[in-house]
Amino acid sequence: MTTQFASTNGDVATLDGLGADRDFRHTGRLSLDLALTGGEGEEFAPFERIPSPDELSVWLAWSQLAVAAGATDAEYGDARRLRWAIWHAVQAVLTDTEPFEHDQAVINAIAAHPPLVPQLTGPTWVEPTVSQALSTIARDAIEVLRDPFLRARLRTCAAEDCGVPFVDVSRPGRRLWCEDARCGDRNRQRRHRERQRAQSKG
Ligand SMILES: [Zn+2]
Repeated sequence: MTTQFASTNGDVATLDGLGADRDFRHTGRLSLDLALTGGEGEEFAPFERIPSPDELSVWLAWSQLAVAAGATDAEYGDARRLRWAIWHAVQAVLTDTEPFEHDQAVINAIAAHPPLVPQLTGPTWVEPTVSQALSTIARDAIEVLRDPFLRARLRTCAAEDCGVPFVDVSRPGRRLWCEDARCGDRNRQRRHRERQRAQSKG
């Protein structure tokens, strides 16, 4: 898939391949994808995918927003606070506990900033900034966590070695995997091998 976006100077550039070598996630929801770029503390350090403002910019370009914008240190700090708050709020829903007030406050505060401005033709966004992108992501988190249907469809990937959260918007609501290409195929192959082994024994 070729991703096209407009940089802030109005030129259309192609982001094809940018970020493809990183272990980023596409679960179908922007706010979850940000939350899956890492976290705070020693436990989450091995999972850090955006260790610098530049890496945040690579993720934003790679994400479904396809925003090309350089991140300031302040915006980078906001992005880390936002992803940590989203992570906790999602875990709170999955474990049927209330989100921490602090996490709600972080998400609400960032969502209160002006979001990205889309347009019908030309560049996707009108002069996008990282701050606007973070607001759009925070608003996506609010939609996921507040909309009764989406909230009820929050799941954890069924793969034993994954555990990544995703939103199942399929009509039957029986999606098992965070990403088919990542966990679905792998687990179907494993189950197939297990069945074959069981049959050869039987
Ligand atoms: Zn998974």
